[in-house]
Amino acid sequence: MPTPLSGDARADLRLIVERCRALLAANGLRVEQVTGVGVSMPSPLDAELGVVLNPPNLPSWHGTPVRRLLADALGRPVAIENDANAAALAEFRFGAGRGSRDMVFLTMSTGVGGGLVLGGRLVRGVASSAGEVGHIPVEWDGEPCSCGLRGCLEAYTGGAAWTRRLARITPADSGVARHAGGAARARPEHVVAAAREGDAFALAELARFNDYLARGLVAIAFTVAPERIVLGTIPTAAGEELCLAPLRERFRRHVWSFLAERIEIVPSALGATLPAHAGIVVALGAAGAEL
Ligand SMILES: [Zn+2]
Repeated sequence: MPTPLSGDARADLRLIVERCRALLAANGLRVEQVTGVGVSMPSPLDAELGVVLNPPNLPSWHGTPVRRLLADALGRPVAIENDANAAALAEFRFGAGRGSRDMVFLTMSTGVGGGLVLGGRLVRGVASSAGEVGHIPVEWDGEPCSCGLRGCLEAYTGGAAWTRRLARITPADSGVARHAGGAARARPEHVVAAAREGDAFALAELARFNDYLARGLVAIAFTVAPERIVLGTIPTAAGEELCLAPLRERFRRHVWSFLAERIEIVPSALGATLPAHAGIVVALGAAGAEL
C-alpha cells in the first residue's frame, strides 16, 4: 500500500495502524498474537530512541516518536530501523550475507545507502550514521550530491543522480534512447538493456559506473575488511558480465591481493522481497529474537 502522506504524521500513523488491524483480521488473526512489530523506514532516525529525525521524503514526520505511537496503539513491542540498516540485516540473516560474520550491504537503487554488520551485529555509530557509504567522496569537489556535499559515491552511482545525468547526455541515436523511448527518458535499466546488445554509449556509461563504485568499495575494504560486500539493485540487475566481474577486476587493482582474495563481492539475494524481509528482521529484534 502507498505510504499515507497527509502532512500530519500522527494521522498517517493512525491510518497505518487501522490497515494493520484490518490485514490481521482478514487473515483470521488478533493483534495479541503478534510477537513483534518491525518498521523499516527512511533515515535519518534514532533507532535507539525510536524517533524519526528529518527524512527528506517524509517532511511532516520530523521528530515523530514512531516507536512509542505504534506501541501505544497496538500494545505490542515495536522497533524501528533505517531502511538501509534493516536491508543489511535482512541480507545478513536471510540472503546473500548468510554464513558470514562481517558484511557490508549497499542499497544502490534511487540513492546509495549502506549497512554494516560486523561480528554478527549491526553497527549504528553516531546518529545511526555508520555505513553511510553513499557519501564517501570519490572525487573531491565533484558532482553535487542530494545530501548537500560534492563528489559523493551516490552522486556518481545512485539511480536518481544517474537518471539526471542520462537526461543530459544520452545520444538520441543510442540504444539507450531507443530502449527508453527517447533520450530524455533514459534510466539506468535502459543502459543495462542497451549494454547487453553492445551499445557503445551504454557500455561506456557502465564502465564509468563500475569505476566509481570500485572506488567506494576500496574505501570500504580498507576500513572494515568485510568477508562479503553485498550489492543491491543496479549491480544485481546488471549482473555478472556487465557489472560484477569488471567491478572485481577494478577492485583487485587497488587493494592488497590477500584482501582481494578474501573479500567477496556478490549481488543481493532477496530481490523484490527485500523490503518485506527488512521489516521482518526488525520485528524479530522487537520480539527479542537473537539476530
Ligand atoms: Zn552525499
